[in-house]
Parts: sequence; structure tokens; C-alpha cells
Amino acid sequence: MAKIFCIANQKGGVGKTTTAINLAAGLANLGQRVLLVDLDPQGNATMGSGIDKSQLEYSIYQVLIGHREIIETKCRSESGGYDMIPANRHLAGAEIELVDFDNRESILRLALNQIRMDYDFILIDCPPALSLLTLNGLCAANGVIVPMQCEYFALEGLSDLVNTIKQVHANLNQDLKIIGLLRVMFDARTALQQQVSEQLISHFGDKVFKTIIPRNVRLAEAPSYGMPGVIYDKSSRGAKAYIDFGAEMIQRIQTL
Ligand code: ATP
Ligand code: MG
Repeated sequence: MAKIFCIANQKGGVGKTTTAINLAAGLANLGQRVLLVDLDPQGNATMGSGIDKSQLEYSIYQVLIGHREIIETKCRSESGGYDMIPANRHLAGAEIELVDFDNRESILRLALNQIRMDYDFILIDCPPALSLLTLNGLCAANGVIVPMQCEYFALEGLSDLVNTIKQVHANLNQDLKIIGLLRVMFDARTALQQQVSEQLISHFGDKVFKTIIPRNVRLAEAPSYGMPGVIYDKSSRGAKAYIDFGAEMIQRIQTL
């Protein structure tokens, strides 16, 4: 039975999608059965997995509005070695269309229940907002992985996310917890990044993952080839870090 994790941070451009794609491919590379769910109308996880978002017959959108079963929307990332529920800009409409639905925040959870036994890991790439889409992700998940850059306002932004997670835990999903904070795009030469990283550890202790993802141009290049960075250039520092992160996740879920 799959463990389900959201990759979430309401801040834009912090490395959620890069983390989702590379963790999915890293775990698949370690022999795990992985499903990646794209829950962002930008469809970046879809494109970065080598699936053309403009050519989709069905996507997560039809699942959320009840027009398709989730199994009908599943496709395969050949480059990444994992299955995928893709998304494109149609998903932006779901936010409005769902307003009148009962249990509108639990639709994804119910859908994933139908295919959960087919996987070891289900990863959900959330959009940069604490929206109804993200809420669906949080309601479906066992835990949240929070990628963050060690910059000046990073800690401030975290409190909104932490409060939302607490509320979801209290009202909608008692299973939900923060699995960990992942330091990404890290540049060890920057004093400020070192300082923020230390603050993060003193605040959150062992909730901070040991693995650090460095800033690495190969990770940024990979999506334009429709490939996860861990496949595009296995020997790059970024790829190695995400492979290590996959191993750390496998270890960490033993203790959940
Ligand atoms: P959004 O909030 O828009 O969904 P996001 O949080 O999903 O963004 P990404 O799309 O993963 O963030 O990353 C933002 C940009 O930073 C992308 O161009 C990506 O290629 C680049 N990037 C992510 N991680 C790294 C890294 N470790 N090194 C270099 N570039 C990176
Ligand atoms: Mg993204």
C-alpha cells in the first residue's frame, strides 16, 4: 500500500516540481513502484516527465470534477520509469467548478484510494498556493515534503504552510504530518544560506532532511529534454543529491 506524500510550499519557484520529478525517478531507480500526480495547472511536472501537456486526452482535471476514473487518466513517464496522472491548464477551472461539490477537499483522496495498492510511493506536485487544489493534496497525503531555499524570507513563509498543515490535521486528515524540510538550490559558499540553514535546524531539528540539494544547472536543463535530472545526467551533483534523497526518504518512512 503506497505512502502518499505532497510536495508543497505556497511560495513559487522554490523547487517543488524539480523535487517531485527527481524524487519520483530516484525512487523508481531504487526499485520502488511510483506514481507522480501533477496537481498544478502549469503542468510542469507533466512536461518534465516527457509527457506533452497539450496532447492529453484526459488529465487530473476530469478526475476532480468526476468525469473520469483515475485509472483512465494514468500514463507512463518512459524517461522517468514511473506512472503519472498528468495535468494542464484545464485544471485551473477545477478550483471554481468544485466550489459547490460536497467534500470538495477529499476528491483526490477517494480517487487515489482506488489505485493505492499498485504503488509503493505516490507523490503529489502541488501548485504555489494554499488553494483548494493544494488542500486536496494535503487531505490525500500521509505527509508533506517542503522544499525550500535558504533565503531571508524563507522561514516567514513557512509559518503559513505549517498553520495550514495543522488545520488540515485537526479538521480533515489526522494522518497528515510534515515529513521534512528539504534544502534545495543550496549554495554552500553563501554565508546567508549557511545562516538560514542553521536557523532551520535549530527551529525544526531532525525535521530537516540530511540531504542537501545543491544549485546545479543540469537539474534546470533536464526538463527541456522531458527527462528528470537524475536520468539526464546521472553523474551530476544535482542528480546524486536527489538519488541520496530517495534513499533518505525510504529510510525515513520506516520510522513513520
Ligand atoms: P512553481 O511554484 O512555479 O510550481 P516550483 O516550486 O515547482 O515552481 P521548480 O519549477 O522546480 O519550482 O524550480 C524553479 C526553477 O528553478 C526552474 O527553472 C528549475 O529548473 C530551477 N531549479 C530547481 N531546482 C534547481 C537546482 N537544484 N539547481 C538549479 N536550478 C534549479
Ligand atoms: Mg512547480
